[in-house]
Amino acid sequence: MKDIARFLSGFKSFQRTYFCEDNELFANLNEAQHPKVLVIACSDSRVDPALLLGVEPGDIFVVRNVANLVPPYETSPGRHGVSAALEYAVKILKVEHVIVLGHSCCGGIEALMAPDREALGEFIAPWVTIAEPALRGVADTLTHKNGELRQRACEQASVLISLENLLTFPWLRDRVANGGVYLHGWYFDMRKGELLSYLPETGSFEPLVPRCDMSSK
Ligand SMILES: [Zn+2]
Repeated sequence: MKDIARFLSGFKSFQRTYFCEDNELFANLNEAQHPKVLVIACSDSRVDPALLLGVEPGDIFVVRNVANLVPPYETSPGRHGVSAALEYAVKILKVEHVIVLGHSCCGGIEALMAPDREALGEFIAPWVTIAEPALRGVADTLTHKNGELRQRACEQASVLISLENLLTFPWLRDRVANGGVYLHGWYFDMRKGELLSYLPETGSFEPLVPRCDMSSK
């Protein structure tokens, strides 16, 4: 119950900022939301995009799931939660940027890499197979590397798989082709506290916001 009490206190603080003081934000947001950015992030408790990016309510439309994965475009009957959110963001909200935000120490990618993956549960294993091509690529090129480096490579490669899968949605592919939507592959390194971005020119993730220089403090 201690956590719940903390949440109520947190909501009171939020309420003070946006509803008790002279703040017009929600008066406008009640009419409609106009986020320009869709963020696809992991469900992991350490990688909340709103906290990481310091945004206000209404700034980002967010999909979170295990390992920040985007399944390919499929029209088979089913409950396609990620695809529904993507459709809403792209077709209705007309976002201009889609950011796939991966991260270090990802339990979902660890599950993907686990030799006994099937034993992890009835939903996790089939879900993370979306990133199986990333796993195969890492297994082919990094057989000699240690586990942490292999996992990092797999986490980053899975961001690229999600970016590729985004382009299998025909209405998104069209918007990307005509410059209406930009795709971004980002990676939060929580060990170093830095934000990386995938650069197609180098084929690697490079610091977008480098780690703090503690020596200058
Ligand atoms: Zn994760």
